[in-house]
Amino acid sequence: MTSPRPYRGRFAPSPTGRLHAGSLAAALASWLDARAMGGTWLLRIEDIDPPRDIPGAGESFIEDLARFGMVPDEPVIWQHDRLEAYAEALDRLAAAGEVYGCACSRTEILAEDARLGLPKGVYPGTCRTGTKGRPVRSMRFRVRPGIVTFTDRRLGAFSQDVEHEVGDFVLRRADGLWAYQLAVVVDDIASGITHIVRGADLVDNTPRQILLTEALGGAVPSYLHIPLVLNREGTKLSKQAGATPVDSTDPMPALEAVFSHLGFPRIGAASPQDFLAAALPLWAERIAR
Ligand code: GLU
Repeated sequence: MTSPRPYRGRFAPSPTGRLHAGSLAAALASWLDARAMGGTWLLRIEDIDPPRDIPGAGESFIEDLARFGMVPDEPVIWQHDRLEAYAEALDRLAAAGEVYGCACSRTEILAEDARLGLPKGVYPGTCRTGTKGRPVRSMRFRVRPGIVTFTDRRLGAFSQDVEHEVGDFVLRRADGLWAYQLAVVVDDIASGITHIVRGADLVDNTPRQILLTEALGGAVPSYLHIPLVLNREGTKLSKQAGATPVDSTDPMPALEAVFSHLGFPRIGAASPQDFLAAALPLWAERIAR
């Protein structure tokens, strides 16, 4: 989708570990895309999950990215500063009848899925019409029926029947923490994000985020999901699973490696600044808006 609004992109890591090749690829792709389109590039640290977040990891991202030559155009956004905005968004959705309290535990949901023959983890809608006196644990978004489709700039048309493949999804968790889906959408709207460039592991989340964006009256951004960087076992690099961090003190090998992963030739530059200057026209030429 072409957006008439001025290009605003972002890199939005969760500080659950150090920057690894997969997150560096997402940072680089989002940075190059924003620069190639003459846009603004933001950095948002998604630190809303204290049990998983690692103290100091957000600061280390900012420092590491600077060593790779990528500095955000505006002050870094920290999600821990944004909790009121999430509460306000939930209130607005509640006032519009788009959310409801849910009393179900994960075990109960799985048992109900098995009983009804639903795919594992799909919310069966048990509390849609009330919790029948059971205490509310989480708040869920009421998913509208119908297929959600969007056109990814790399993957093309992507459709999901969110109602049947996911079900009504959680916005505020049973432990009181905000769900990633709500925080990411509220912040992308507040920052005026027009283009999202991120890893392909998040493509399944996009239809949910489109539904939420629409419910909150935001403009749906354009999406580009880049190929995942896999480890030798063929699984996605994960900060939590302790993927080897990239060495930001010797930035060139990692920059060249992730650029090659994105399908580009070796640049052979001496510094991150020279590398980025040389990578920019290649990205601009190859990646259509
Ligand atoms: N915080 C998410 C992650 O690190 C990415 C969010 C996004 O790009 O939408 O996986």
